Amino acid sequence: MKNSIILFFLILFTTSHTLESKSAIYDLATTTSDFAAPNKQIKNGKFLGQYWSPPPDSIVKRIKGKSWSEKCPLSLHDLAYIQITHWNFNDKILIGELIYHKDLAFELIEIFQELFEAKFPIKKMVLIDDYDANDVLSMEDNNSSAFCFRVKTGKADYSKHSYGGAIDINPLVNPYIRGNTILPKAAERYVDRNQNKPGLIKEDDVCYQAFIKRGYFWGGHWTSLKDYQHFEKSPTE
Ligand SMILES: [Zn+2]
Repeated sequence: MKNSIILFFLILFTTSHTLESKSAIYDLATTTSDFAAPNKQIKNGKFLGQYWSPPPDSIVKRIKGKSWSEKCPLSLHDLAYIQITHWNFNDKILIGELIYHKDLAFELIEIFQELFEAKFPIKKMVLIDDYDANDVLSMEDNNSSAFCFRVKTGKADYSKHSYGGAIDINPLVNPYIRGNTILPKAAERYVDRNQNKPGLIKEDDVCYQAFIKRGYFWGGHWTSLKDYQHFEKSPTE
């Protein structure tokens, strides 16, 4: 299973739905690829999720030299390409995509199933490579992303995102705040965490709970800084 080109998992209530949903997501493919076009709206109201490890060749082409390179601590065989469906801010269901550590991929799909069923909205979820792996551009666009080989904001060591066990959700409405630094800059209006805005993460809400109960740490709990968009877990945990 480990080395198979396609690892296929669907999180559904009964196995009898598996094939139906498999064909539903495959039918969305607009090219010869065997996965759906990301960020496209779908009509199917059911949650769909699957992952491929290692990522398919067409995905490797997109990430190579951007979010992933040979210098990265993880090989392509450590990574999974994930597609899930999510609600957006306009009550539509979109196909989201992520790169993640393969050992945490299935659990991450379970988390997104919970968010889907609770209708927790996620603005957009495409690979950070669509922004040339530029985290600021991705955050400004309120794009949720996960794997990216990069150093920690303001530090010299690698961030958890380099190890495939960290994800940033709705980063514009859930900014990174350290002293007077707010990232992305346009997120100043979301520094007040007591407001109710779509996709704004609060302690004990459905998004928070879905991650925390699976052993994730939330960046909103750091004391030296706040990173409200950020959840992380070590793949070995
Ligand atoms: Zn992060």
